[in-house]
Amino acid sequence: MALIVQKYGGTSVGNPDRIKNVAARVAKYHAKGDKIVVVVSAMSGVTDNLIKLAKEIMPLPSEREMDMLLATGEQTTIALAAMALHSIGIPAVSLTGAQAGILTDGVHTKAKIQNITPKKVHDLLDDGKIVIVAGFQGETPEGQITTLGRGGSDLTAIALAAALKADLCQIYTDVDGVYTADPRIVPAAKKLGEISYDEMLELASLGAKVMQSRSVEFAKNFEVIFEVRSSLNENPGTLVKEETKSMEGVVVRGVALDKNQAKVTLVGVPDKPGFAARIFKGLGDATVNVDMIVQNISHGAGTPATDLSFTTEKADLLKAQKVIDGLKAEVGFREVIASENIGKLSIVGVGMKSHTGVAGKLFETLAKEGVNIEMISTSEIKISVVIDLAKGEQAMKAVHAAFLGS
Ligand code: ASP
Ligand code: MG
Repeated sequence: MALIVQKYGGTSVGNPDRIKNVAARVAKYHAKGDKIVVVVSAMSGVTDNLIKLAKEIMPLPSEREMDMLLATGEQTTIALAAMALHSIGIPAVSLTGAQAGILTDGVHTKAKIQNITPKKVHDLLDDGKIVIVAGFQGETPEGQITTLGRGGSDLTAIALAAALKADLCQIYTDVDGVYTADPRIVPAAKKLGEISYDEMLELASLGAKVMQSRSVEFAKNFEVIFEVRSSLNENPGTLVKEETKSMEGVVVRGVALDKNQAKVTLVGVPDKPGFAARIFKGLGDATVNVDMIVQNISHGAGTPATDLSFTTEKADLLKAQKVIDGLKAEVGFREVIASENIGKLSIVGVGMKSHTGVAGKLFETLAKEGVNIEMISTSEIKISVVIDLAKGEQAMKAVHAAFLGS
């Protein structure tokens, strides 16, 4: 007999038939004698709609009231899921995050889980019930309802699996697992049998939006092994876990393309101590999220000057430009060039730590495609290049073929 935590995302519970489908799946595990905790998201589109409604009332609603509002999405689903189980004769009880013992800090709309006391969950499981918990929500020690940030149901499931010492944590979604690349762009993409936490984190932050990054970090810290799989078929999914020796045999685990970046270049920045600090302090104070930074060597006669480029999300570009314009007199650079027509292409794999020649092969592949590299950045398990957005998908296919087959 195993204790299993199963999480079903918004599309998996998107309408009454889908909820009945979830109930049937849960019932199968129940029939085997397993203890099951089900975590559900709001039905697809519901959270977005609630946010839209709030904005129609006022542009900047109180965050406490936002949590009060958003928590209703998941509360709807837990009740419907419990009813779906009752309708096929299976004992089930729904619990809000608070009732399940999920305690958070008081940072409304992006609260952090502080502690989980799952006594009630254990008692109900011992009683033979299936326990259905609302994802994405908790309560403060003072009894205020909080939510955990968008995509937070993943976090609820992982954290509950850790607190309950579950034997298995399954994240059900509308794709079969984690792929070597987005199959909509690269038809040759293959489903991965396993992936390490670090690779998963890099791919998630690179635009392969399978799971909330915070939940993967949590799983890594608490060593929760979980499986990402589809709620619409019986195919085995992708196991996410600590890296093993055998994982290092694969140099590149996945390729991702982030089309959401913009590039800013400051031309002719005086090459003196403190200038980079001034620029990036200014951007940080304005909460502009900077990703890659590249500075070249000094050039030019007279006072040495350098070109400085950085990337940020497209959504932050205007804010970034405003900050930079405000610094022009103080810093004294020559001009600013901003471009939204860039893509960030990345390859990720723990095997890069122990293999050589990976960068060379990547650049060679891009050269053969006639793709110019505008920026490069690397980490232990990742190489990213900024390229022309128009060539992004073509480059992604070629790079996937070179490292992962076509
Ligand atoms: N319903 C919330 C959202 O849409 C939480 C989740 O689905 O995980 O962000
Ligand atoms: Mg989700």
